[in-house]
Amino acid sequence: MISFAPEDTQHPLHVLRITSHAARGLLQSQQLVRPGAKSAALPPALLTAMHLYSKRLALMGRPDEVGPEAFYRALRQPCASWFPEAESLFAPDACLVEEDGRLGDVVTELNFQGSDIDVTLTEAPMKEFLDSCREKAKTDPKAAQAAYVAYRELVTTRQVMTLHQFYDALEDPAIPPEVIQRTWSEEVVAEPDGMISLCGACGCVLTPTRDGFRCHSAICVIRTDNFKRFTRIPYQPGMRALSVGMAKCVAAPGKHEIALARWLRQEFGLQPVLWPGVDTYDLGAAVGGIRMAVDLKDHANPGLLGLSLRPFRPVPPFDEAYIVVPDDRVQRHPGYMRSLTRFAKPEVLANGIRFLKVSEFKNLVRDRVGGIPVA
Ligand SMILES: [Zn+2]
Repeated sequence: MISFAPEDTQHPLHVLRITSHAARGLLQSQQLVRPGAKSAALPPALLTAMHLYSKRLALMGRPDEVGPEAFYRALRQPCASWFPEAESLFAPDACLVEEDGRLGDVVTELNFQGSDIDVTLTEAPMKEFLDSCREKAKTDPKAAQAAYVAYRELVTTRQVMTLHQFYDALEDPAIPPEVIQRTWSEEVVAEPDGMISLCGACGCVLTPTRDGFRCHSAICVIRTDNFKRFTRIPYQPGMRALSVGMAKCVAAPGKHEIALARWLRQEFGLQPVLWPGVDTYDLGAAVGGIRMAVDLKDHANPGLLGLSLRPFRPVPPFDEAYIVVPDDRVQRHPGYMRSLTRFAKPEVLANGIRFLKVSEFKNLVRDRVGGIPVA
């Protein structure tokens, strides 16, 4: 069992955070490490990361694998190969930089450890709006909840906005215009033929590559059967998109939350509530007289997810709490649920919280209302 002491500079998570920032910095600055590059020309954060990485390799009895080239190679190797003691934190194939040069899911998912400044910043408009809705809920809870749900549904269903949709959203009296402007802040770039392609899984703008497309999450390749599912729309000047942080951390899980709520309504006529109590949890539903509270998590790395979990807040009250994970995450990584439970803190596990796949949660609901199990 790993003992996590955050002040320890050799602590796997500490080294991982620093190297994760270095990976992001490398890609953002396009300063890829080339053979023969002088380390003096590299940014300080990268030098620190390389130093920590080299120390780890020396401790592991691999002192030869040091220097910028080895470091850049390491960023593209599964994290577990340089942090064997922290293996179950990650998906087996998790790398900081993917083969295609995209940042790995590990980098974004470290956000949930509160360390990823870039992602925290891109989520700032949502966090600020959430705070203002919670404040408003003290005097007018219905209006505050309605405004928050309107915003979350818009984020989840419109990864890209045409100029027309953008102006419509600015007119919405429930959401302040500056929140809309800051949330859809990314400019969209047209492909050479004047179109843009949207991912069939997450709805984000795809980046064309030599042999197909690239999306921000590796799971989109699987969910679209290697981008066989995508839509094309004409580019219009002024089109706006969600930032990657909002797309990955808010919109992507939001799709599962909305789908599960729809399933509960359509299959059983239940009345689920999305983001009740201005986002106390993702979904609340009374099933057979039992009040179920659900948080839906769509993460690649189960250990990092486990470490990030917090106990559910108690209001609106519930009888049972669930963390629910899309089935394909577990199929890709058979040890997923075990790692998730292992890294969840005792205060999270204290109140009988259950960890289920979406299909298991649906079966539980069917059992309770006397239906037939999901295939
Ligand atoms: Zn996608």
